[in-house]
Amino acid sequence: MTASQLDAWLGSTRTERMPALFIGHGSPMNAIEDNLFTREIRRQGAELSPPRAILCVSAHWETRGTFFTAMERPRTIHDFGGFPEALYQVQYPAPGMPELAATGAALTHGGIDTEHWGLDHGAWSVLTHLAPNADIPVVQMSLDRGKSPAEHLEVARQLADLRRRGVLIVGSGNMVHNLGRVDWNRLNEVGYAFDWAEEARSLIMDRVRNHKLDELANYARLGTAVQNAVPTPEHFLPLLYTLALREPDEPLEVFNDYALAGSLTMTSVALGA
Ligand code: ZN
Repeated sequence: MTASQLDAWLGSTRTERMPALFIGHGSPMNAIEDNLFTREIRRQGAELSPPRAILCVSAHWETRGTFFTAMERPRTIHDFGGFPEALYQVQYPAPGMPELAATGAALTHGGIDTEHWGLDHGAWSVLTHLAPNADIPVVQMSLDRGKSPAEHLEVARQLADLRRRGVLIVGSGNMVHNLGRVDWNRLNEVGYAFDWAEEARSLIMDRVRNHKLDELANYARLGTAVQNAVPTPEHFLPLLYTLALREPDEPLEVFNDYALAGSLTMTSVALGA
């Protein structure tokens, strides 16, 4: 897509470069809780100049090919089981933005989804704090199961121009995320990490701070601690989408940098905030 086509889709007015975020989302219960993490996400949201739209890459939507939600009114999907009824009552009624979905699809050689998906909890459990009025249009973007981490970095780079068209790009996942090894008795114990999880957090964050994207894309080579921390790629890949958008002059802020439940971290980053 050329710059003039982008202008046609999103208007010719360029904006200041919007920040880009990666947010550790943790338990879906964060959507309805008021805790250390949700307060910090709210603070981040309050400090943003309001974006024209939000493009959210969630760990919880994997597809063959890359897709963008293109509904006028994306539904709130409760894609989990066994949680309190109050969580199933949550609605995040933000409008969609079909023209942004079409632009994203054109930029990434992806497709649009007009009926299957909506906003999953990877998106709304975070957005309900980041943009609590639900008045900013939201488009969700899927993770293509067929792509390698390095290929996901390439897809992410194709989104870069959107940041100067008022689009806030938000990756939602968790850097350390091994549900099979969660200590359910210590689920809410902030700072509780197994030794391997702490080692993985340190190894990953060193690469994040020093912008070593090739090493992050080859995360399995960082050793067994990181292999335990990232047993499957989907919660890690949204981090790569955010970091791929970092420009050379851009500061990187780290927040919510805590472990939880032994085998999770909530560590989040903001570019250009
Ligand atoms: Zn998740």
